[in-house]
Amino acid sequence: MADESKPLNFIQQTITRDLAEGVVDKVVTRFPPEPNGYLHIGHAKSICLNFGLAEQFGGDCNLRFDDTNPEKEEDEYVQAIIEDVQWLGFQWSGDVRYASDYFGQLYDWAKYLVQEGKAYVCELNAEQMREYRGTLTEPGKNSPFRERPADESLTLLEQMKKGDVDEGSMTLRAKIDMASPNVSLRDPVMYRIKKVPHHRTGDQWNIYPAYDFAHGQEDAIEGVTHSVCTLEFASNRPLYDWFVENLPVPSTPHQYEFGRLNLNYSVTSKRKLKQLVDEGHVVSWDDPRMPTISGMRRRGVPAVAIRHFCDSLAVAKTDGVVDISQLEHFIRDELNKNAPRAMTVLRPLKVVISNLPEDHLEQLTAPQHPELDMGNRTLPFTREIYIDTEDFKEEYSKKFKKKLTPGKRIRLRNGYVIEADDYVKNEAGEVVQVNASLVPDTLGKDPADEIKPKGVVHWVSVQHCVDCEVHLYDRLFNDPAPDAGDKNFLDAINPASLQVMTGCKAEQSLADAEESTTYQFEREGYFCKDRKNSSAEKRVFNQTIALRSVWVEADT
Ligand code: ATP
Ligand code: MG
Repeated sequence: MADESKPLNFIQQTITRDLAEGVVDKVVTRFPPEPNGYLHIGHAKSICLNFGLAEQFGGDCNLRFDDTNPEKEEDEYVQAIIEDVQWLGFQWSGDVRYASDYFGQLYDWAKYLVQEGKAYVCELNAEQMREYRGTLTEPGKNSPFRERPADESLTLLEQMKKGDVDEGSMTLRAKIDMASPNVSLRDPVMYRIKKVPHHRTGDQWNIYPAYDFAHGQEDAIEGVTHSVCTLEFASNRPLYDWFVENLPVPSTPHQYEFGRLNLNYSVTSKRKLKQLVDEGHVVSWDDPRMPTISGMRRRGVPAVAIRHFCDSLAVAKTDGVVDISQLEHFIRDELNKNAPRAMTVLRPLKVVISNLPEDHLEQLTAPQHPELDMGNRTLPFTREIYIDTEDFKEEYSKKFKKKLTPGKRIRLRNGYVIEADDYVKNEAGEVVQVNASLVPDTLGKDPADEIKPKGVVHWVSVQHCVDCEVHLYDRLFNDPAPDAGDKNFLDAINPASLQVMTGCKAEQSLADAEESTTYQFEREGYFCKDRKNSSAEKRVFNQTIALRSVWVEADT
């Protein structure tokens, strides 16, 4: 939903004016991904913008796959993208659309331009074409095939389509202006021969439209009024307009370019993300460390946090780099407000409360959330409990005054106060058990002798906890600008981005944790059950985010 208190961005201003002046009756936008990879956080900005504009102005937003390049496109990507858009909470107008649905129409329009003397079949190979194109400072040269008769071009185009011509030996080109200062207008390629099966049209086509020949007309077919895209397409706009002006298209879309979202400590390029997957630097596209929408979902990031983050971004005519801590802020804010609480001990240390009977079992209760009315959970309290190894120190010191140490007290979160008596070490010299005493009558009360505990620790019952594995994540890259300049982004991969903690102990209520819920593990951070690695026998929790950023100091 648009925030009424925010000034309108330049696209909202344009739409407001177009509606007021009757330039359009209804706004139609679209999100047009190419199904050659999974969506990333940058795409989320485009999704929120396009769907958000339609929502705000009572219009429609289409979801259209720009599937014009069969070499890199797959149905797996189509399905993943559909799931991501829905998960973000958006619904497109009508059916999912595909550029490939328009291949017949685009081909007819290509023939139309040939007949009009505005397109021709060219037999320059790729290298020659580059030579003829000229440079930014020098004009290009006309192709020797430029003036061939329309009939000849039509026959050759037909042969290209049938598969009778070798790949790379011919293209169909628009006849515009080889001397144009805009290189996009120097007789751009409209069709290439690619004898490659397409994920939807199979072997039907041996030629495929160039993105530039398809994109604007697809918008025109769908009645898109405001074609919103990223800045790198600004120089192609005159070409899209040329096709739209020179073809009998049913409507006239206008393109508006905004700055792409770049996040520091991240890469937002499908090509690079694919490389991370293909070369095994991460496990999959939805690896929780990936800046993909599916990776963030699997990690437990709420969709609404991503939407709030995207809404907070400027929609401007310049590219910028956004600090990842801004995204993290929205994730923490949302989870702090809405995540149910639970206790999980990541590095368990057994504590035996020797003044309780062996079969002691008391059902303590704690709220699911400190402020929201989410009900209560039951915490079985027994003679043997686990606390975190980090919460016990052999010797008292000021630095550790909030820890459990012999002779000192601590409050068990949502429970009683205990005092450590002594501890047991193994042969390796590690503390493996702490013996403690319960300070009676301290549930929700201070001790009667007024010796108050300084700290609070989380805990679970040894007999009533559930085993789990916890995956802790750090940023995938150590470098704030992993792919800047001529840097190889692979060199910046953080080798410690995943830490697997085994033998962790979760409170009983997490036995049936849901994958769609992100919990606050009290004093540890936010976690959600992993949808891929968990099974009936094994529970795996992904860390969504720590309670506080450990990067704050490093960043400033
Ligand atoms: P990539 O550079 O990751 O390959 P792309 O631009 O090739 O992305 P598309 O599938 O063509 O990916 O993108 C679909 C839409 O998302 C386009 O309108 C594109 O402009 C937009 N988009 C892509 N990346 C970003 C980004 N980082 N920020 C904002 N919008 C983006
Ligand atoms: Mg693209």
